[in-house]
Amino acid sequence: MNNRSQIREWGIDPSWTLFLDRDGTINERAVGYIEKWESFRFLAQAIEAIHGFTKLFGRLIIVTNQQGIDKELITHEDLKDIHYRMIDVLEYYDGKIDAVYYEPSLAVYESPRRKPNIGMALDAQNDFPEIEFRKSVMIGDTLSDIEFGRNLGMKTVWIDNPMENHNRERILEICDVKVDSMFTFLSLINVD
Ligand SMILES: [Mg+2]
Repeated sequence: MNNRSQIREWGIDPSWTLFLDRDGTINERAVGYIEKWESFRFLAQAIEAIHGFTKLFGRLIIVTNQQGIDKELITHEDLKDIHYRMIDVLEYYDGKIDAVYYEPSLAVYESPRRKPNIGMALDAQNDFPEIEFRKSVMIGDTLSDIEFGRNLGMKTVWIDNPMENHNRERILEICDVKVDSMFTFLSLINVD
């Protein structure tokens, strides 16, 4: 079965939620951490993709690991400022992000809120009780995103990322669909 017919079988409609990773999914990954809005770069057609997803899904939720905070490379205030401005741009182009959840703790602590653990999704469901994980899609560029989605019984979409080469086989084994960008996923959902 090809990607398009597989995705059609999911039956995405406005009762569905899209969970999105941030770095490498919405914006370009940085060398190190994105500490200021000035270093935030949307990926090609990411804004258009979010505009399209807004019409197809009931909710759009960003879940992002940001250990740069507990490394003291970026402050909570600066991160929130980046998210505020990102949402502002997306809204200008008729894209609606319902909420952004981030986890500041270091990877080594394996926080229950840090992907692949599911805490941020539970927070989202607490804030938006209509969210059903079996009617949700997780899109992201790393193994932890795909594992996060799997841990919750979501559909998973992997944005192919050469930096994940060491995890490539494992990701391909467990993800539902591989694409090269959010926009490609959007075009696979849209019936043409
Ligand atoms: Mg990422």
